[in-house]
Amino acid sequence: MDDIKTILQKLTVPKPTPTMDDDLQQTPLFTFGVIADIQYADIDDGYNYQRTQRRYYRSSLRLLRNALENWSEAAVKPGFILQLGDIIDGFNSRHGASEQALDTVLREFSPISAEVHHVWGNHELYNFSRSWLLRSKLNSAPFPGHIFVLLDAYDVSVLGRDESTEQHREAMTLLRHYNTNENLNSEGLRERFTMFNGGFGKDQLAWLDSLLSSADKKQERVTIVCHLPVHPKSAETTCLAWNFDKVLAMIRSHSCVVCFLAGHEHKGGYHLDTDTGVHHLTLEAVIETPPDSNAFGMVFVYDDRMELKGSGRMPDRVQRAKFHALHCSLIAAAGF
Ligand SMILES: [Zn+2]
Repeated sequence: MDDIKTILQKLTVPKPTPTMDDDLQQTPLFTFGVIADIQYADIDDGYNYQRTQRRYYRSSLRLLRNALENWSEAAVKPGFILQLGDIIDGFNSRHGASEQALDTVLREFSPISAEVHHVWGNHELYNFSRSWLLRSKLNSAPFPGHIFVLLDAYDVSVLGRDESTEQHREAMTLLRHYNTNENLNSEGLRERFTMFNGGFGKDQLAWLDSLLSSADKKQERVTIVCHLPVHPKSAETTCLAWNFDKVLAMIRSHSCVVCFLAGHEHKGGYHLDTDTGVHHLTLEAVIETPPDSNAFGMVFVYDDRMELKGSGRMPDRVQRAKFHALHCSLIAAAGF
């Protein structure tokens, strides 16, 4: 793994090419690939919990392969890949196939020369313990370039916390307070309080606040990456983090955040928060994408904007607001 100095040395930022007919910068500073909710399992196709959406468990691997081929053959290669969580499906755990399924998916990633960085979703926690994940290949290293902050939306959750722990007890108390259903995966009084969601603990929020304050001072740009979305207009409320409002308020109190990238909501979503200029982008899931389509993208980062070039059912997006002078520097990842 590269140390910070090596990463910064590698980060040779090309000078923008001036153009006559367009005020947009034409050469990206860097690019990265995005993909969400692969949810691979070696089982026949099925349906989501409500039986409204077909899930293509085996085919998801082929769609990942399509994405990797596309990224490898692209004229401008991605500097790194962001995998937004739920890399394998929870069914693997029932079949005792968690590690085998993870190996299968990670093997697909291995030929690509770009670094791959992973976010943990609820399905990671159906398959593995937090301590196992911390030692696994799904525990990502820092990113070069802008600051990319990986938030852990299952910091406060009944998933991934041993039942004997105080953390589990607190999360269960909170969950039971807002969800009186017998089955805690069914939506409660406040829809997002289900067992398949979670929230951010006090320590993580304090860490985020200090990181954003530092980025404000240095005029750096921050992209927050998290399995769960936090803006109610970027996803159905059933998919939001429990205390999404805390993170939104924190983003509003700082000027450095430019983009919030999430997965989990399989149909995807997008909202430009005009109060803050922050783009909230929820990526379309591989698992509910038919085998003859695709769901991945490549993000081109310029000095004046970020552009997502989507494939298949992931649409193109141009994110232009709030881009100010860029200072490439520090990188951070949460480890809660
Ligand atoms: Zn999820």
